[in-house]
Amino acid sequence: MDKKLRVGVIGATGYVGQRFITLLENHPWFECTAVCASPRSAGKTYEEAVGDRWKLDIAMPEYVKKMVVYGTDNIEEYCDQVDFTFCAVDMKKDEIRALEEKIAKLETPVVSNNSANRWTEDVPMIIPEINSDHAALIDAQRARLGTKRGFIAVKPNCSIQSYVPALTPFLKNGIKAISVCTYQAISGAGKTFKDWPEMVGNVIPYIGGEEEKSEKEPLKVWGKFAGDHIELKSDTVISAQCYRVAVQEGHTAAVSVSFENKPSEEELINTWNNFESEAYKLGLPSAPKHFLQYLEEDNRPQPKLDSGFENGMGVSVARLRADNLFDYKFTCLSHNTLRGAAGGGMLTAELLTAKGYITAK
Ligand code: NAP
Repeated sequence: MDKKLRVGVIGATGYVGQRFITLLENHPWFECTAVCASPRSAGKTYEEAVGDRWKLDIAMPEYVKKMVVYGTDNIEEYCDQVDFTFCAVDMKKDEIRALEEKIAKLETPVVSNNSANRWTEDVPMIIPEINSDHAALIDAQRARLGTKRGFIAVKPNCSIQSYVPALTPFLKNGIKAISVCTYQAISGAGKTFKDWPEMVGNVIPYIGGEEEKSEKEPLKVWGKFAGDHIELKSDTVISAQCYRVAVQEGHTAAVSVSFENKPSEEELINTWNNFESEAYKLGLPSAPKHFLQYLEEDNRPQPKLDSGFENGMGVSVARLRADNLFDYKFTCLSHNTLRGAAGGGMLTAELLTAKGYITAK
């Protein structure tokens, strides 16, 4: 790429926003040229707006400290500063839908971490290693919005990003039923233990809306491109339970699965260890060489040891064994604010750039 694309982050002061800010430092294709948050933060420098809310264990990059934050009430001026934008905000769903559509109509592509547009029919919900072909929905979406450049693309919920990658290579075996229990980190709620002391030593067996997302979103990700919508996968049933646990980063999933044609244990493990992704072959800067790894140890994967695999972009699988009710059970782990949020968004933007959907204005 001759010249870096100009990108902004809406929700830049939040947990996911902070991850985007750090991932954009020295990014080979993208340069962060604007940051945006609520009108409360507007007009302050990024450093002032974040104040004592910096949540990552890596330092705030120098490049962003003195940038002046735009408010979402001044989105036109913000959009003038960028070729495309990331969006990860804590707002009401209808407000997010309106905001993202307004930005797209300002001819600024939006790569969103929010759930508001995941079920908009012509909005692709992308995990680049799995369903990059869904990007073609953008043509129909642009026709609906009346835009030349602008569109919305989303990434799915963080909770599904360990078991969906692990099961995708076996779609050919006919996945009949999945039972999954997720053990989700507190950063998934944008929190640290300082913000949420009652989570220390605790488990909360409820995360609002999460079980429904975990059961339905895989069916769109695994669905079939049909011009202006995705035909949802209809022959797989998923039952999910989602628990919040006292972990800072890393969502674990305990998975049981049944197939039409049961693969052998050896086939499962070999496939996980040798999975090759189009995203990596395309040379996308954030694509992990190893999307999946199988760990032989009985006490893995662990968030502290394994969520950083492949810079937080790889998924770890272990404890494959026979199940009394299903064919197999196993454990998966992914980094929720990298693979499951900002890293996944970055990789999606890289994919859409490589496919020519995101260009310089
Ligand atoms: P967060 O830490 O609470 O950050 C929220 C961000 O939204 C802040 O930048 C805040 O700006 C901004 N904001 C709040 N009200 C706003 C308004 N009226 N207009 C514009 N901006 C506003 O939340 P988060 O964990 O980063 O999550 C952000 C989004 O990503 C959510 O939709 C969440 O569901 C999604 N997501 C999160 C994760 C995760 O692992 N955390 C994973 C996947 C998806 P101020 O600082 O100015 O208030």
